[in-house]
Amino acid sequence: EMKNSIDTSLRERALRVVPGGMWGHLHANRLPEGYPQFFARAEGCRLWDVDGRSYLDFMCSWGPNLLGHHHPEVEAAAERQARLGDCMNGPAEAMVELAELLVDTIGHADWAQFQKNGTDATTTCVTIARAGTGRRKLLAARGAYHGAVPWCSPSVVGVTSEDRAHILYYEFNDAESLSAAAKEAGDDLAGVLVSAYRHDLSRDQELPTAEFALAARAACDAVGAALILDEVRAGFRLALAGSWERLGVRPDLAAWSKAIANGYPLAAVTGREWLRKAASQVFVTGSFWCGAVPMAAGVATLGVMRRGGVVEHLEAMGTKLRNGIDAAAARHGIRLRQSGPVQMPLILFEDDADFAKGTLFCQTALARGVYFHPRHNMFLSAAHGEAEIDEALAAADAALAAVASARQTAA
Ligand code: PMP
Repeated sequence: EMKNSIDTSLRERALRVVPGGMWGHLHANRLPEGYPQFFARAEGCRLWDVDGRSYLDFMCSWGPNLLGHHHPEVEAAAERQARLGDCMNGPAEAMVELAELLVDTIGHADWAQFQKNGTDATTTCVTIARAGTGRRKLLAARGAYHGAVPWCSPSVVGVTSEDRAHILYYEFNDAESLSAAAKEAGDDLAGVLVSAYRHDLSRDQELPTAEFALAARAACDAVGAALILDEVRAGFRLALAGSWERLGVRPDLAAWSKAIANGYPLAAVTGREWLRKAASQVFVTGSFWCGAVPMAAGVATLGVMRRGGVVEHLEAMGTKLRNGIDAAAARHGIRLRQSGPVQMPLILFEDDADFAKGTLFCQTALARGVYFHPRHNMFLSAAHGEAEIDEALAAADAALAAVASARQTAA
């Protein structure tokens, strides 16, 4: 059946003209057998693949789909701007409007600057931190993802050790290891990179402890280095003013992307006053960085978010999903772990080093029209309502039954 699918024929054509058929983390060969590579359309929290199968989606484009595909306010703002102009000789009014909104919304932000992708934003933060301090060393958590360029790529293919010459690594949530790395950097410390929370691939998620967050802040303050918060994945889903606001710890720089324009390509760096001059002096730019349509979409997205209720909705739906899956797992006698914020779910199975259980769980759910991921954190959107969570729980129940019966067969 799959052999004659449009997806299969597109993969074959792609293999001839695109190296490996697809690049990076969205390559379908990183997913269980049966997942589609190509999609035809999207609406709300649903996707249709090129063969016409529909999915209730729990990846949300790996983050960007925050309010639902084709959110009417965001679409209206984007269409209005598209009719006026998108890629021009400079930005539109929307850039100033969006910067004003971010400065007004984000706790630490005294200014904002725009890019396209999360990698642009994290790399810009690093450059600004070095420019503002005149120093070289950066601390980053071992295993954390900050983007797909040589200084931070998770692969070392095509990367030289010189690309990472001034990066020192610490363990997330381990204040002692962070302090040790800071000590090693000494008075050459430019910045400390921290993720909003630990969301590394294939392991339980971890919220930052207050002790760790304070230690990261203190390590920076001790030598005048910049605390850089990577909000690319978690931004706008945990807390609109910033993911570390509830900890009482403010960064000096933060990198944003994914959800900030509800799927339109946009990234942002926000920063504090003492780095304004450095941010104005570094040379950062891109042909598409001042595109007006994504900025108009960003203004509309922030407008919706600032009216409130979205984060609370994501939390309520995430809690319903988590509790429902826990209850179903208990019914089927399956031991699994759900970790991290409920609105960014991750389900890992006990005794599943090869991810066989996770794979079977996801494949069974997929066959019932629910798109989960076995190893990467998932995402909820505002378009996921009670009915959609119930639909997902019905599929999850069948998928857990499949895992339970596979275990019995094996035993
Ligand atoms: N930082 C984090 C925490 C991310 O999750 C990502 C993307 N997964 C990035 C940076 C890089 O963003 P992009 O893929 O848009 O370059």
